[in-house]
Amino acid sequence: MNPIEILAALGAEWSPDFDAYTSGALDASHIRCVLCQMAPCSCPEFGTPEYFALHDQRRSRRGA
Ligand SMILES: [Zn+2]
Repeated sequence: MNPIEILAALGAEWSPDFDAYTSGALDASHIRCVLCQMAPCSCPEFGTPEYFALHDQRRSRRGA
């Protein structure tokens, strides 16, 4: 599963860099992650308790 598919699966907001990616200006590995804000992503391994804790933390900050 690539980072874009993971974001889509989570229903996450697109990275601010996504337009640059689609225009070919950025490689996928250079898109800032919406969860950890790192590029490339440095989140805990997808599916782990740590990952979901981070996801919940980001959601709560948005008031969702
Ligand atoms: Zn990340």
